Amino acid sequence: MNNTEGVIVPNGKLPKEAQGLQLNFCKTLACDNFGLSDAEKYVLQHVNPKRPAMVCRECGAFPPLLNNQSVLDELQRLKQTQTDGLPACKNTSCESLGLSVHSHKHLYHSFGYSGQKQRYRCKACQSTFVDQWSESNHKLQIQESILGYLFTGHPVREICRRLSINPKTFYDHLNQIAKRCRRKLSVIDERWFKHADNYTLASQFVPLQPNSHNGVFWIASGEVESGYIVAQHTNYSEEELKESQDNFTTARIVSTSYTPEAQLPFEDTQADIRTRIDNKYQLILARDNVEDPLGNLAKLDYPLKGTLIHPHYTSYAHYLYLEQQLETDRPISIFMPQDPLLRSAALSVYLPRIKAESIDIVYVEESEGWQNSTPVDKHDIVHMGWWRDRWAITQQNTIESDQRVELMIEKAICVLAGKQQPSHWLQSASTRSISSYQRRFQVIFNDFVNEPRRRLRPAGINPLLDIFRAWHNLCYQDKSGLTAAQKLKLIDKTWTLKELLS
Ligand SMILES: [Zn+2]
Ligand SMILES: [Zn+2]
Repeated sequence: MNNTEGVIVPNGKLPKEAQGLQLNFCKTLACDNFGLSDAEKYVLQHVNPKRPAMVCRECGAFPPLLNNQSVLDELQRLKQTQTDGLPACKNTSCESLGLSVHSHKHLYHSFGYSGQKQRYRCKACQSTFVDQWSESNHKLQIQESILGYLFTGHPVREICRRLSINPKTFYDHLNQIAKRCRRKLSVIDERWFKHADNYTLASQFVPLQPNSHNGVFWIASGEVESGYIVAQHTNYSEEELKESQDNFTTARIVSTSYTPEAQLPFEDTQADIRTRIDNKYQLILARDNVEDPLGNLAKLDYPLKGTLIHPHYTSYAHYLYLEQQLETDRPISIFMPQDPLLRSAALSVYLPRIKAESIDIVYVEESEGWQNSTPVDKHDIVHMGWWRDRWAITQQNTIESDQRVELMIEKAICVLAGKQQPSHWLQSASTRSISSYQRRFQVIFNDFVNEPRRRLRPAGINPLLDIFRAWHNLCYQDKSGLTAAQKLKLIDKTWTLKELLS
């Protein structure tokens, strides 16, 4: 336990609202206190860090407290990283911060040229900036080679040798390519955000570097059918960050002296799905803070540079970021694996949509080999975990042809918000496209991601994530011969690496 610092909020009080944002309330949908932020509905204590700071008087749930301002700080950090290199207002106190010229023309005036580059002025704050990428790419050839080598798994040292460049030049190129990718993708993303009739998303998170124990998680959300990735974030900042003034029992920034006390999680992947779900609930309850998966690490090796953020702050900011991109009048469905990290953030951020009944949030767990197209005729209902979550579980039997063994293929869903019946989601809900996206990254860049030198230096991976997302959405064809962006009719043909870079 290292979260005893900064106890500023007095007992019996909730953390202050920030710009109208108040995320502290009971997160049990069936509870009368769900979504209500009146302090008297909770037992609030900030003295004993071994006990929950907030307990719902109605249902007994103990959602961790959040510093609302820190969630907004985290959102601003994500936006700044995401829009680095985009032609957009850079003024951190301006409401147009990070909103690109391409998607928000009405916010800017053209303002002459700087050399070959177009200059713009922000209508809101009058600051000016140039579009760094409005001229053609003079380094196209070498950057195309770099990507070619990277995507075929060549180590950095080898790429530098073949192209006769030093590592610093390599990383400079990588950062420039990433900026170009962000810029190209932001235009295409915008087409989907603006024109989709509804948003069906899946979210997932994994450790960014599975062999490193550095506490960095990678949260991603994408369109379910096509696999088009719309947002991805990590809880790691290359910059040294300081906590905002209004500190609280649970901080946003992970202290360098943080030492997790958990045992290594035991995952029995052979067990039946009910046992696996049950084991997961035990793992969740073993955390200091149920929303923070850092509590499950057996050890934490803090990155050598930069700052680690508590992952739930990144998760709340991830969904806030999405909410700002999505049109408010269109329905959303979000599928996610069983974990409060994503669940609580989505249930809190989308509270207005839950009240308006325009959102479905569903936990999905399934065995490998599950076929979504097969109709589901019956399912069992089981209440599980401390929260008594209502799971629907069903089976498909398949016979493995060569060995003649019958395998039980199972799927379980839990409707967290929304009116649809479980049988509907058992047939359609899935997180498969997002997990295969994250798995593909780990496979293609295995050497790069797990290089021993990089274990405590995650910064070099950030540009690669941006490049991979652009490549995955625009250049990568699956079995159907189409890219994710083509399936959504956002582009009409597959892009080459050259088109991505020019
Ligand atoms: Zn409650
Ligand atoms: Zn501005």
